[in-house]
Amino acid sequence: MAKSKPLHWKEPETENCPQCNGSGEWRGMFGSGPCAMCDGTGLVGEDGEPLPREDLLAMMRRQRDRIAGKLEEARQHYRQLLHTPGVREALAAEYERKQERQRDEDMAHRKRLRGG
Ligand SMILES: [Zn+2]
Repeated sequence: MAKSKPLHWKEPETENCPQCNGSGEWRGMFGSGPCAMCDGTGLVGEDGEPLPREDLLAMMRRQRDRIAGKLEEARQHYRQLLHTPGVREALAAEYERKQERQRDEDMAHRKRLRGG
């Protein structure tokens, strides 16, 4: 790979693309597509210029890793929670309550529909 890259890559400062307001979508009268100004990323650099592709890719990779990390954390937290005594039972009971409430609401709704 290119050796000219800086050793310590820093995530560039970004702003919402002024063209698409950060949505990354271009909407025309007869169709839509990725915004041409920001390559569909919704982001531009501090200077308002589109970001270089390698910066974008690196940012996306980092974001993906961050999200994956958060998901894994949440999963672990959930697993721990399930192993806490009483939690499974509480969840099951809550589920039952919800089902029951839903049944009651359905019945009430049907009653109203029948005009009674
Ligand atoms: Zn844009």
